[in-house]
Amino acid sequence: MKTYMKMSRLYAPTLKEDPAEAELASHRLLLRAGYIRKEAAGLYTYLPLAWRSIRKIEQICREEEDAIGAQEMMTPILADGELWHQSGRWDDYGPELMRITDRHDRQFVLGPTHEETYTALVRDELRSYKQLPVTLYHIQDKFRDELRPRFGLMRGREFIMKDAYSFSADQESLQQCYDEQKGAYARFCARCGLRALPVAADTGQIGGDTSVEYMALAEAGEAELVYCEDCGFAADTEAATAVCEVTEGIAGELTRVETPGVATIADLAQLMGVSESATRKAIALVDGDKKPWVVIVPGDHEVNDVKAGHVFGDYHMMTDEELVEYGLHKGFMGPVGLPAGVSCAADIALKDSEWWLVGANEEGYHLQSAKPGRDFEVGKWVDVITAKPGDACPHCGKPLAGARGIECGQVFQLGTKYSEAMGATFMDVDGKEKPLIMGCYGIGISRTLAAVVEQHHDDAGIIFPVPVAPYEVTVVALDVKGEVLEKATEIAQRLADAGLDVILDDRKERPGVKFAEADLMGFPYQVVIGKRGLKAGAAEVKDRATGEREDVALDELVDRLTSLVVPARNGLLQE
Ligand code: ATP
Ligand code: MG
Repeated sequence: MKTYMKMSRLYAPTLKEDPAEAELASHRLLLRAGYIRKEAAGLYTYLPLAWRSIRKIEQICREEEDAIGAQEMMTPILADGELWHQSGRWDDYGPELMRITDRHDRQFVLGPTHEETYTALVRDELRSYKQLPVTLYHIQDKFRDELRPRFGLMRGREFIMKDAYSFSADQESLQQCYDEQKGAYARFCARCGLRALPVAADTGQIGGDTSVEYMALAEAGEAELVYCEDCGFAADTEAATAVCEVTEGIAGELTRVETPGVATIADLAQLMGVSESATRKAIALVDGDKKPWVVIVPGDHEVNDVKAGHVFGDYHMMTDEELVEYGLHKGFMGPVGLPAGVSCAADIALKDSEWWLVGANEEGYHLQSAKPGRDFEVGKWVDVITAKPGDACPHCGKPLAGARGIECGQVFQLGTKYSEAMGATFMDVDGKEKPLIMGCYGIGISRTLAAVVEQHHDDAGIIFPVPVAPYEVTVVALDVKGEVLEKATEIAQRLADAGLDVILDDRKERPGVKFAEADLMGFPYQVVIGKRGLKAGAAEVKDRATGEREDVALDELVDRLTSLVVPARNGLLQE
């Protein structure tokens, strides 16, 4: 028989004050409401309320994985260091990898992710194409010695992850496993009550994506995104190709204009009476092969470090000394008449633009009506600017919106990276030995709890979506003796009998304290039982999310709450 929990017995020590160390709402509220406690930097204990939510998040994840035929299992958390040497990651992973030596001087790692373990597991047993595809997963603690563990559950050094690994015989089968995982991830987010966007983390050579991150939209997110409300395109500003409206300069003869004292694009735009997008910004860098470049971009966009790294390798921006050395003039650089040896590159956003307003490579002067092909040549067209809200969607052309995101999950097409390194092969239908084709798929279960709280809270506390709430209903007894407590207890049991997750606030506390803590802890529905209501044969039901209250007759309470809670258990999906 299902029963209810008594708040008088609950271990959920709340804090009166906001904890000073918590910057983010999720961190602050999970501490204050008695959900988590810190053991050391990046190490948190999940107290009973948090653990109930975590188990619900895990269960949603499990159901979605099982629904696409992935099989749950469990491996050790400690992984054999030898396998990490085989894959090459013992050396490549860096200081985030937590390494351990046992009493016999054998090396182990506390798994930050488990590609090695799974590849080694199947390499001796998945031997024939007939056994493929297979997807295996587990939900367990992962360890990463993060440089900056912070924001509570958001970036821990020990955290809970679901990680799945698929093994296929060919690319088509991998694509199918991967697409199924993407479906599962979208449903997982929606069922947890998260507004999340799938964001292409990179794009494959053949078109299509080979890795997607699931980003819960929240101000607190570390990722900066652009997305299209119209067609659903979304990308990290660091990965997106910016399709921006570029304003044309003035058509005509190349004209030298005096621009003394102009130090910035804003100065130039103001002096010339044009918008910043009508100007062309020039930055100077030295690429990984020590070759100097002047790179021209639209005046209103920034060069992105990650994207520039893809093009120019281990580059650096020129220092003032280097500018002088190469004969360049800070604030007055441009593509026309570059000093010998300095090459010109330009962002592809400018490819169709004919008339440029640029620096003259001469102190105090700019050039009006510089025309590519006539006045100068662009040596290399590159994709280096950061996309920003207002740029056009590369798919449908509508203006992009901006948002920040929390990465809750990521899917990858790995291909044969691990199977080749670790000798995991199978016999294909043509009788040939081939490396297994792999995908890997991770969800941050504990980070998802933090993301849910980031998206669902107000000044009074957490507002849990029903599917991941530790308790769906709290029955608040305004009096803890006599008829009120008796009735509240009976109602709590009847609600539990109906299958709801119920907690009964039976504590000897003032009503004000009970209401405040019910709000803080974020239970979706509060049922208030008091003397006055009982006289009228009713209880008040408060919806935590909307703040709406309704009086419900005592004998209709179970039906009413069931009708509120049960449909909501599917999360956003039902909308
Ligand atoms: P990040 O870029 O945030 O460091 P990641 O891309 O390195 O994360 P993955 O290797 O893709 O992380 O791991 C899968 C998932 O595990 C992530 O999408 C995230 O939800 C979660 N995760 C990763 N690192 C942490 C951490 N330090 N604390 C909590 N969750 C984490
Ligand atoms: Mg990731």
